[in-house]
Amino acid sequence: VSRQIVEADLTWTGDTFEPGVRIAVDGDGRIADVGALQDAPTRRLEGQALLPGFVSAHSHAFQRGLRGRGERFPDGTGSFWTWREAMYDLVLSLDQSRFVELCTRAFQEMRDAGVTTVGEFHYFHHTTGTDDWAFDEAVLEAARAAGIRIALLETFYQTGGIGRPLGQAQRRFRTRSLDGFWKQMDHLAATIDRRRESLGAAVHSLRAAGIEEIATIQEETRHRKLVLHIHVEEQRKEADETRTAYGKRPMAVLNALFPSADGVTAVHCTHTEPDDLRRFLAAGGRVCVCPLTEANLGDGIPDLTATLGYEGRLSLGTDSNARISLLEEMRWLEYGQRLRHEVRGAVVDAEGHAARRLFDAATAGGAQALGLACGAIEPGRWADFLTVDLTHPLFAEVESDHLLDAIVFGAGNEVITATCVGGEWRNVRRET
Ligand SMILES: [Zn+2]
Repeated sequence: VSRQIVEADLTWTGDTFEPGVRIAVDGDGRIADVGALQDAPTRRLEGQALLPGFVSAHSHAFQRGLRGRGERFPDGTGSFWTWREAMYDLVLSLDQSRFVELCTRAFQEMRDAGVTTVGEFHYFHHTTGTDDWAFDEAVLEAARAAGIRIALLETFYQTGGIGRPLGQAQRRFRTRSLDGFWKQMDHLAATIDRRRESLGAAVHSLRAAGIEEIATIQEETRHRKLVLHIHVEEQRKEADETRTAYGKRPMAVLNALFPSADGVTAVHCTHTEPDDLRRFLAAGGRVCVCPLTEANLGDGIPDLTATLGYEGRLSLGTDSNARISLLEEMRWLEYGQRLRHEVRGAVVDAEGHAARRLFDAATAGGAQALGLACGAIEPGRWADFLTVDLTHPLFAEVESDHLLDAIVFGAGNEVITATCVGGEWRNVRRET
């Protein structure tokens, strides 16, 4: 990639859309300078608006293979747990080439939806029979094929429920020991391409690891300066199980366990008590919600009132990838709260802007959850962008002062025309 100067009709500065903004991107794929630069543009984006690319901070790419499946309920209603059986059937059916194919498809689709970075919460490690970690390389291979930035959140998965052995499908997720887990992390750290790839740690959930292990992993991630992600309270059953085992709800267990939650992202928090969530945020924690997946799985709607005032601590994920659209995730984050609390403007920033806070969750908030320098158009960050077609009929009658609101509340993936990851541009595919 050579040095480029990018200029769109309008550029999102983090606050407003402004005309005449030029962005210098250096040969390493980072933003060198932003403003009224002297250099003539090498890429003039006529009729386009330039924004930071979306970050999906929580994804299981292979679950793209379930799209359109598990939506029929001949025995009456289904649940998260019946869906999980369908997911385990998929897991048992996948060989390495099919796994790569599904992940590549998900990542390509993400780019077409304006997603330039994915936080891949990766727990599916092994081919059948052996603990070979082959799918760790496979998921990186898929990300390279799609040209997406990936934070590989290598996931610890030891038990099939609190104190219970792993089931058949879960054996393909197995991490036998902390030692083996960190050995694999060291191996991955030596192989990744740091211009596009980074590592973080994850613990699948309080169902999949003992609390001593979780405490040890958190300590080690702080030592290694890695982020740590964990599924928390997506389902009531999980809360019931931890209450039986530990006398507390999952978030209360984590609050007692972590001296500081800095660098920790709790995914879902669907059934988390607001007081527990407030304590977690006060200790430095972050929250990732995945509204489309949570709706699809019938999880419930989290109470996010505790996150007010904690700007930058929210992120969004496409999770099961049943539908990939950060625009829809943003809307449904706010709409879920509107429906739950019967108010408008539930997820807002200090000045009362809903779209700005939601867009921050879909960009900078995700970048921070993944420990990455992207998600904003600022010098020093990766040159990860998306462009929006200002001539699209959906934006007729919309003034530029309300453009972000119109994008967040009135548009879909069809307005996204191109993405750029580390200075490398790709047009959105309109047919396959
Ligand atoms: Zn998940």
